[in-house]
Amino acid sequence: MIAIGELKIDRVDEICGAFLGMDEFLDGVPREVLARDPAWRARHGVDATGKLVISVHCWIVRTEHHVILIDTCLGNDKNRGEGNAGHRLQLDWLDRLGAKGLRPEDVDFVICTHLHTDHVGWNTRLVDGRWVPTFPNARYIFSRAEYEHWHPEIGASNFLGQGIAFLDSVLPCVEAGQADIIEEGYSIDDHLMLEAAPGHTPGTCIIRASSAGSVGLFVGDCMHSPIQVAYPDVNSAACEIPTQARDTRRRLLSECAEHGHMILPAHFPPPFAGHVKRAGEAFEYLPLRGDTDRRHM
Ligand SMILES: [Zn+2]
Repeated sequence: MIAIGELKIDRVDEICGAFLGMDEFLDGVPREVLARDPAWRARHGVDATGKLVISVHCWIVRTEHHVILIDTCLGNDKNRGEGNAGHRLQLDWLDRLGAKGLRPEDVDFVICTHLHTDHVGWNTRLVDGRWVPTFPNARYIFSRAEYEHWHPEIGASNFLGQGIAFLDSVLPCVEAGQADIIEEGYSIDDHLMLEAAPGHTPGTCIIRASSAGSVGLFVGDCMHSPIQVAYPDVNSAACEIPTQARDTRRRLLSECAEHGHMILPAHFPPPFAGHVKRAGEAFEYLPLRGDTDRRHM
């Protein structure tokens, strides 16, 4: 459990492991990374063979009024193509949610930082051959820019073949009347605000959580790996607008370094979140202590 002021932050893990080679997924990592000492590499999620440790997890935020999920992983049963890590998963993710004391009907809001496949999966589940919202009482929050980017009659994006996720994991929530397509600056109670952070995708939002003088930023995929804290100009292969992705990453890291905000990304390895401080033209990642749960690796 992580605290941001009086907010209680938890996670539901889906998968975690060294799935991808550093060069396979990150664009332009300097070779010097491989010469770093093992402790540095471990802190930055690089294993001994140069593979990146990536987690896919959903953040749970509990305020005094609401239960909010941020990014809903890959989901079960989704047709993502043979060989894709998210293809037709059969995981006990809902039991893991239950182990956190939550039933699907307890969730008040679901926020997707963006609509790539690994952020929308548990929005829906397959029931009698139909995709239905997993969380029957939740409002699903999608940014308008992101929604329109993927909508088949508007932007019709199929970046990296991910357009199908709109049809099986976003549209059913809209058709069930549970979706709110929101503009920048949308707030959920006094504690959570969505802010535009374009670059990884055109409509990516971050969620700013504030309580009792503390601030945490749920930055989604504005950075996938702690390596991008040390080398903020390194993009992932999944960044749709590279120049804007770099600018946004630097802006967020600068703000966190200056004000001491926590970062809570969508894919950082255990312990999953931390702080940053300025280090010359780049930044140093300071992971939280304590939460090194690698149960699902
Ligand atoms: Zn992602």
